[in-house]
Amino acid sequence: MNGCLFCEIVSGNRQAERVYEDEHCLAFRDVNPQAPVHLLIIPRVHLKSLNEIDAAPDGLLHHLMRAAHEIAKRLKLDQKGYRLVINTGPHGGQTVFHLHIHLLGGRPMHWPPG
Ligand code: 5GP
Ligand code: ZN
Repeated sequence: MNGCLFCEIVSGNRQAERVYEDEHCLAFRDVNPQAPVHLLIIPRVHLKSLNEIDAAPDGLLHHLMRAAHEIAKRLKLDQKGYRLVINTGPHGGQTVFHLHIHLLGGRPMHWPPG
């Protein structure tokens, strides 16, 4: 998708510190981390937000969740825990309109979020 920051990362036209990739998704470090570990897990296909999930290939969200769990295990976050967040739309605080899952860990998280 032209002009999409995260599509540029997928295609390699924009640099990112990649920590995981497979045929359907990749994960890289957030440029403005909010926790000791702050990754973004994104599908290779462009979907603006979770609102477009019906247009996604079958099983994509399941795949992204499996990837999140795999990454959490590799980074040894799974025992103490971590948080997955999908900001959706303006009230959700979404600023980049390519579906992404935030994976936050390495410190206790607070609730409720802001
Ligand atoms: P959102 O607010 O849409 O849920 O999250 C977008 C996230 O993308 C933010 O946490 C922001 O710091 C991160 N971000 C924005 N632009 C870039 C970029 O060019 N590279 C990386 N690695 N992260 C980005
Ligand atoms: Zn995109």
